[in-house]
Amino acid sequence: MNAKQSFYIEVILPLPLPGTFTYLVTDFTLSPASLIGCRVIVPFGKRKIYTGLVLSTKNNFEENTGYQPREIKEIIDDTPIVSGRQLEFLLWMSSYYMAALGDVYNAALPSHLKLTSDSFVGLISEINPFELDLKPSEQRIIEILAAGDQTIDELKKLLSSSHPQKAIKSLGEQGLVFLYERVKDKYAPKKESRVRLSANWNNELKLNQLSDLLSAKAKQMDVLVHYLQHVNVLEDTASNKTGISKKQLVFSVSSSSLKTLIKNGYFEEFEQKIDRFNYTSKISTAIPQLSDYQQDKIKEIRGHFSDKNTVLLKGITGSGKTELYMHLIKEQIDRGHFALLLLPEIALTTQIVARFKKVFGDAFAVYHSRFSDNERAEIYQNCLAGKYQFVIGVRSAVFLPFDQLSLIIVDEEHEYSYKQYDPAPRYHARDAAVYLGHLHKAKVLLGSATPSLESYFNAQEEKYGYTIMDRRFEDQPLPEIATVDLKKARKQRKIKGHFTNELLDSIQKTVSSGKQVILFQNQRGYAPFIQCENCANVPKCPNCAVSLTYHIYQNQLICHYCGYKEFMDSNCSSCNQDTLKTMGAGTEQIEEELQIMAPDLRIKRMDLDTTRSKYAYQEIIDSFESGAIDVLIGTQMVSKGLDFEHVELVGVFDADRIIHFPDFRSHERAFQLITQVSGRAGRQHNRGSVMIQTSDPSQPILQHIREGHLDLFYGQELHERRSFKYPPFYRMIKVIIRHKEKEVAYQAAMKYHLLIHQTLGNERLLGPIEPIINRIRNQFIVEIHIKLEKNIKNLQAIKDYLLGSKLSLVALSDYKSVLVHFDVDPL
Ligand code: ADP
Ligand code: ZN
Repeated sequence: MNAKQSFYIEVILPLPLPGTFTYLVTDFTLSPASLIGCRVIVPFGKRKIYTGLVLSTKNNFEENTGYQPREIKEIIDDTPIVSGRQLEFLLWMSSYYMAALGDVYNAALPSHLKLTSDSFVGLISEINPFELDLKPSEQRIIEILAAGDQTIDELKKLLSSSHPQKAIKSLGEQGLVFLYERVKDKYAPKKESRVRLSANWNNELKLNQLSDLLSAKAKQMDVLVHYLQHVNVLEDTASNKTGISKKQLVFSVSSSSLKTLIKNGYFEEFEQKIDRFNYTSKISTAIPQLSDYQQDKIKEIRGHFSDKNTVLLKGITGSGKTELYMHLIKEQIDRGHFALLLLPEIALTTQIVARFKKVFGDAFAVYHSRFSDNERAEIYQNCLAGKYQFVIGVRSAVFLPFDQLSLIIVDEEHEYSYKQYDPAPRYHARDAAVYLGHLHKAKVLLGSATPSLESYFNAQEEKYGYTIMDRRFEDQPLPEIATVDLKKARKQRKIKGHFTNELLDSIQKTVSSGKQVILFQNQRGYAPFIQCENCANVPKCPNCAVSLTYHIYQNQLICHYCGYKEFMDSNCSSCNQDTLKTMGAGTEQIEEELQIMAPDLRIKRMDLDTTRSKYAYQEIIDSFESGAIDVLIGTQMVSKGLDFEHVELVGVFDADRIIHFPDFRSHERAFQLITQVSGRAGRQHNRGSVMIQTSDPSQPILQHIREGHLDLFYGQELHERRSFKYPPFYRMIKVIIRHKEKEVAYQAAMKYHLLIHQTLGNERLLGPIEPIINRIRNQFIVEIHIKLEKNIKNLQAIKDYLLGSKLSLVALSDYKSVLVHFDVDPL
């Protein structure tokens, strides 16, 4: 070993461990700097092998640790797959959100790009390895895989090679093999059945013979003629290689004739991997012309950007924020710059993406959580290769590799789904986007009809630029919002099930005039809980401190926290009487009641249960859009950003439960949720109306919602937050302590409190507190809430101190098995 030319690298491993790990590189041809941001295969522990990411390099290693770094096994990339800016972003996220760097790396890179020893490799199609110009090592892998998929470990053994990764990577790039994680993802690449001429019939002479042979068989002849029309093998024999999609061919010819031709060996069927992101080429409707009002607003936003990095756009529902986004994005891509549009959730993605497709065709990528690892890896690589002009994505899109990023738009910035709760890093994508913008010197636009109090406050304080759009496009009026008094309706017996007569009449009137209805009930399942009328027993989850939700379709009781399920018995499990009664209503029950009362209505439900499959959202949204559904019933999924032309009535159930949820944000949340869902009504033609069923129509918050008094309501909320020392005036960090024994969790929390209270001071600490749901998945939960002054100087030092104290806590033998994590800026 030439000591002069070897060097050390600091590597991030995809493990929930703090810090980086040092490895040795002895490759003489490499300059250390060129390795930063590249992936390397490294040994870890006795047997494990991981794909690490090089964070930095150094020439010397201080040997005083008594530990000699091991040598890396292999370098995967020739060029970095993570840029210097991205590395900086990962480091920031790790320290700001108190998450292990390895956890951040795990979140940032699709797992396909981090092969571990559990990764599997499979062949993409039947290949004759001798036809291809492959290296011997690659040939050998193909031969092994022809017999079946293998883990990388298995391949190593069979190849007697300790690092086949490079050969696998090269085969992957040639489209011959694919990688997948067996435990995490049962995904297989998208394949398509195709047909082509068998190789020995693919020349002019043979084809002449074949057409003679088939001359008496009209249908088979038809297949041949069609094939030759689509695949011109006479001019270009190589075009036979990809053939034609079987589906496409049998669309116009007899499939049994094709079968016969295949059986007789004239044609062959094969499978081909197809590109998942083969977007249809540009349909290109022109970009919508902005109205004069919208023009003024976009000018105002540009003006703010001249001296502010972040602008809050408060635009009422239906004001045309999406159109503004299109114009702002177009400006950037016309300059050759890159833009990122963040959206909170896939239900919303579906419609907005369709609107963008019409204008921008295939210039952009869509990135969301429903994609498989392979699909995400594909987008990551394409992004790296500069194949897109912009990206529309959900929160994890902040991790994509961007070059020349100059604009980030966060739509519906108040949305809670921007915050990742589990696993770590527990980051907020809006806040991360603001930091990302700072790193790239990009401008950040936060858009919402009902901003978060945090952003609203920042706008008031002039930290952010502030633009208000308070007119709907074409001055379409906002819907009329009315409350329906449940108590009165009950007294006068003007209620059936959960529907007041007033709401039911409106639904029927709306539908008979050819319009549509959205009903909002923020609880899925049939009933949030059931109770025995005889003994008052409520079935609870054995693993969590919550009651089980009744789902009528599966006739099951399901825990919404851990997924525990049991069949619903007709008798009470405690007293064995048949006196079980459902309590409260979920979307299933609302649907059932309405269908019974109005059998002619075409009703669909949109909630987590009806949208599990990949394209379920799309299907529901499409059929609602096309008018095949009269009434759409759903959870908060129906409240977000959807734009339907013919919705004229929105009904809100259970407003009281939303308002009285015991949390300091419950009023903010209720205001946002109800205002947003109301905004789905009357967006394009007649004035819409909204009916909120409540037991107390006089509640101030409902009045604010009705009158659209956002500033008044936000002003009051801010006042409360200030007096009770809550965000946005104070920073919060939650310390979450879990153990399977309640007592241990409690003791550990007390101990942790004891460790930190002297330094932080008692008035900054709240707890130990048991959250409302104090047990999930058999772990008891105890929390300590830390409130820090907004402008506290040594914030990072405090976080480090909290992390250090955690290590001291779990080093104590009593608390070894206690789980501790931090939630910074919890929601
Ligand atoms: P927001 O996102 O603010 O709720 P949208 O962008 O969805 O509002 O706009 C509401 C409706 O008005 C949509 O159907 C949209 O197509 C239409 N609209 C808004 N601005 C324009 C415009 N400049 N040209 C044509 N249609 C517009
Ligand atoms: Zn449970």
